[in-house]
Amino acid sequence: MFKIGCHLSASKGYLAMGKEAVSIGANTFQFFTRNPRGGSIKPLDLDDIASFIEFAQKNNIGQILAHAPYTLNPCAEKEYIRNFTLETMKDDISRLEHIPGTLYNFHPGSHVGQGAEAGIRYIAEILNEILFEDMTTVVLLETMSGKGSEVGKTFEELRAIIDRVKLSSKIGVCLDTCHIFDGGYDIVENLDGVLTEFDNIIGLDRLRAIHLNDTKNPLASHKDRHEKIGGGYLGIEAITRIINHPKLRELPFLLETPNELDGYAKEIALLKEKYKNA
Ligand code: FE
Ligand code: FE
Ligand code: ZN
Repeated sequence: MFKIGCHLSASKGYLAMGKEAVSIGANTFQFFTRNPRGGSIKPLDLDDIASFIEFAQKNNIGQILAHAPYTLNPCAEKEYIRNFTLETMKDDISRLEHIPGTLYNFHPGSHVGQGAEAGIRYIAEILNEILFEDMTTVVLLETMSGKGSEVGKTFEELRAIIDRVKLSSKIGVCLDTCHIFDGGYDIVENLDGVLTEFDNIIGLDRLRAIHLNDTKNPLASHKDRHEKIGGGYLGIEAITRIINHPKLRELPFLLETPNELDGYAKEIALLKEKYKNA
């Protein structure tokens, strides 16, 4: 089954997101756990969650993806920023545990000077604090474009983080197609080669979700500017190969393209057309 959705606003709650997803032909969605730039959060609404879970079952909405706010930086040099990140992620996970099996995606962060090595150690330290044995949430590291001092721009850096995590069975990866292309992985000309490399270094069993975005910039630009599906350097043909690739086609695909709801609905319809039902 084709699992396709997009980023939605969480401001009206879970049930509202579920209904919005169905209205645009989606069967999954992504949302920010809290204000992406501030970090403030509404009180947990268990009634809304219960209604959402029931609605999701009736309407075949599968696993959803929560995205941590951008203000976090797990590998900041300043301790108070790392502590804020840790407390926020811990709180996010405790909330997400009310929707069993949810994916929780975060950016590994920017090391801002002290080097990727030190950054990787800090990220793993935080993960070792927040993961626990009987959690059902799966925490995903997002592949980054390498803008500024971002950590997670290579498969090797993500592997190095995972290697330092004790409960690494709780960790997966979310592959962002704009980010890895900007990061230098040529998924237009060499999708098979890139996936083989991913498999050799990280393991494809870790890959749990795809952020499906076109990009405004050429290969290895290290820019991170998303483009509408088919409007950028990836193009509709490469994107069609991505959604149909035997190693990817069962994963949830989440759009983070520059669109309002009607634009997302059109992209979802287009991608459904391109998806070859087995
Ligand atoms: Fe992201
Ligand atoms: Fe992304
Ligand atoms: Zn991005």
